Amino acid sequence: MNLGHGGWGARVRRRGWGRAGDSGHLVLSRISALRGAHLSDEVVTVFFHTTHRCSLQFAAATAPAEPPMTPMAPSSTPATPARPEVGEAFLRSLPKAELHIHIEGSLEPGQMFEMARRNGVDLPYASVDALRAAYAFSDLQSFLDIYYAGAAVLITERDFFEMAMAYFERAAADGVVRAELFFDPQTHTERGIAIGTVIEGLSRACREAGARLGVSADLILCFLRHLSEEDAFATLEQALPFRAHFIGVGLDSSERGHPPEKFARVFARCRELGLHVVAHAGEEGPPAYIESALDVLKVERIDHGVRAIDSPALMQRLATSGMPLTVCPLSNVKLCVFGTLAEHNLVQLLRAGLKVTINSDDPAYFGGYLLQNYVETFAALPALTRGDAIALARHSLEASFAPAADKARWLAQLQAVSAV
Ligand SMILES: [Zn+2]
Repeated sequence: MNLGHGGWGARVRRRGWGRAGDSGHLVLSRISALRGAHLSDEVVTVFFHTTHRCSLQFAAATAPAEPPMTPMAPSSTPATPARPEVGEAFLRSLPKAELHIHIEGSLEPGQMFEMARRNGVDLPYASVDALRAAYAFSDLQSFLDIYYAGAAVLITERDFFEMAMAYFERAAADGVVRAELFFDPQTHTERGIAIGTVIEGLSRACREAGARLGVSADLILCFLRHLSEEDAFATLEQALPFRAHFIGVGLDSSERGHPPEKFARVFARCRELGLHVVAHAGEEGPPAYIESALDVLKVERIDHGVRAIDSPALMQRLATSGMPLTVCPLSNVKLCVFGTLAEHNLVQLLRAGLKVTINSDDPAYFGGYLLQNYVETFAALPALTRGDAIALARHSLEASFAPAADKARWLAQLQAVSAV
């Protein structure tokens, strides 16, 4: 079933939700909540914060000096020449793994328009340029409209394949040697798309990435945490005929109010099946959610995890255990987890001995792909050194679920690059 582009936006307006600039600061609890938000009216959570220190970033993204989401040109970043030892060329040269990328969040305006055309889906934008301009998210409504439109154009196996291949092309150019893609099947099955269509298209792209681009890739199926554990179990059942095509499961979408415990049974089942397990925790949620992800879900990586900083005991535990954190700096700023990149706690996490990695999250929406995240983070945080860049890349390779022989090869490459 294709709901059509008007449905979601119309529902939002009917519910009377405000626009940016209305009373107080209107902040989405988690844009990833909206990854599945078109599923039903009930699944959307919008918070009106009166104390949040960061006003809605969609509005900030409309500044005319900053073109809307054009990560195709990572070389345009102006801030790095001041520190050539951690400049773009060096950061690009490091073999890296990307461990936190939602593939649906990589859909670019040009692709969206092309898919809409060939699938006969009406987009509420007159041209690619109009669509691209809308990626600047002038307000909440503009994001909802475009995100819904984005999901609605993904219909065929080819669509999922092409979306992933476009990501892999960019990843390869950024020095990514390994990518582990999150995907949200519930976002698509709810629209009547067969789960096999989703998985087979993405899986074919993973194979093509390895063969043609030299990027090793695998899939991680994510459950939407604002939906029920019963829904997660049903999704797992649907996916099991395609078990060979994904290596793990994750937990994403709206964090607050949906603690890891809610998914204890389905994660236990996934572990029994030999799947790797990861979960978003401690992005906006408290350190207790990170502890639950470790103790109850028994995750192998924490996605985000930046709020661990609020618990010295947890920081110590994460450092001692070498638990990887997949941190997403540009996403954190766009979603107001930090007001600016300069305020990001990545340096503190690193200095505390945590196994931090850098990732892009939803790059088409949040301002850049992996290299852009590295470049802007190093520009904004002068305390970060060349050694930190090498450590971040090394962490990402070590924390990946790739075969040991591949990891050893990439780590040797990293050592060679570092020695130059
Ligand atoms: Zn994420």
